[in-house]
Amino acid sequence: MNTTKSSKLFAEAQLHMPGGVNSPVRAFNSVGRDPLYIASAAGAKMRDADGNEFIDYIGSWGPMIVGHAHPRVIRAIQEAAESGTSFGASNEKEIALAKLIKKFVPSVEIVRMVNSGTEATMSAMRLARGFTGRDKIIKFEGCYHGHGDSFLIKAGSGVATLGLPDSPGVTKSTAADTLTARYNDIESVYELVESNKGAVAAIFIEPVGGNMGCVPARKEFLQALRDLCDAEKILLIFDEVMTGFRLAKGGAQELYGIAPDLTTFGKIIGGGLPVGAYGGRAEIMKMIAPSGPVYQAGTLSGNPLAMTAGLETLKIIEETNDFYAKLEEKSAYLENGMKDLLKKANLNYTINRVGSMFTLFLWMRTWLILIRQKLRIRRNLQIISIRCSNRAFICRRRSLRRVLFRIAHSEEDLDATLAAFEKSL
Ligand code: PMP
Repeated sequence: MNTTKSSKLFAEAQLHMPGGVNSPVRAFNSVGRDPLYIASAAGAKMRDADGNEFIDYIGSWGPMIVGHAHPRVIRAIQEAAESGTSFGASNEKEIALAKLIKKFVPSVEIVRMVNSGTEATMSAMRLARGFTGRDKIIKFEGCYHGHGDSFLIKAGSGVATLGLPDSPGVTKSTAADTLTARYNDIESVYELVESNKGAVAAIFIEPVGGNMGCVPARKEFLQALRDLCDAEKILLIFDEVMTGFRLAKGGAQELYGIAPDLTTFGKIIGGGLPVGAYGGRAEIMKMIAPSGPVYQAGTLSGNPLAMTAGLETLKIIEETNDFYAKLEEKSAYLENGMKDLLKKANLNYTINRVGSMFTLFLWMRTWLILIRQKLRIRRNLQIISIRCSNRAFICRRRSLRRVLFRIAHSEEDLDATLAAFEKSL
């Protein structure tokens, strides 16, 4: 595969941007090769600057669930752009998107639009603190909630460990307010809550972990969190930036039948344009300015183009018969095909899949176990993913993370993927 142009572009980019990129994963650092520069994308296919075509399983890390450059989304954006790109004043599309989000996710009674998943989680955290009058939050090892200071806290070595900054620039005092528990381990949460009685404002969780590979929470674990939060007056916040509108219309909370107090969104609700949102119980959301004292604002929040792209994407989901059943069918087809090939190749593996999120790796239930496995298998999996990409298969470069399907993958795409996978094995 000739990637000369991509390599030239990367060499130039490195002169102008940190690491040559505007977001770290794009640098392909863990893979040891130059990143690809994408020139165009349509449906399930992406084309790089050198003209190589790929079947895409990244989906822009989540947003492109209806496929790249969906004609309806593109047309809607074009039409909206002709009426102006930003007003700094309200527009009708904001209401339409808010209504559709509420319809899909009943626990959301009021919703505020922002510009990224990071903004959504940071704002939800401030709101939780404002609402409860408490300072501390609990998050889980292996969960990612964007790059807000409070969330960039090292997993820590024990349940009682106070947070340590995971990045230079995060102050110790900020980190001290973030407590870290173990995913799927309710005892670790009980201990933290007990030793910080009355001080915990919120528990943040990815209800299906997507940032440590696909690791689903056990239902009884989420239910125990819900019960604990009710008993201790702590807000339960589901970070559905990745799972929202992906695992079901109503996201992971629909799948599990457990309603959080607040939910954060991103990715799919922007249809490929920069959007995030947070919402939940009206009583809490009314604390946000201007209806309440908790300040949060945004020059481009509710941007008409972003609202349009998100709205059209959600409408496509709503109007496509059996959207999620089809996605499930495609995902299961690939999972089963890969399982057969892995068995034939005599490889020890586990595939974790929840709907259209899946990851190939060894056994895991908690992030700690995963870290041990990771050291051993990362190398192998990376080699698989590079080899696959040479045969028209992009999976996520740090291949321990999840692959995301889209409705746009055809049977032919899936079979081509399996053929590439087989060769790589
Ligand atoms: N939360 C989760 C669960 C995410 O997966 C991400 C992004 N991968 C974020 C928050 C942050 O979103 P953004 O990159 O849009 O800031």
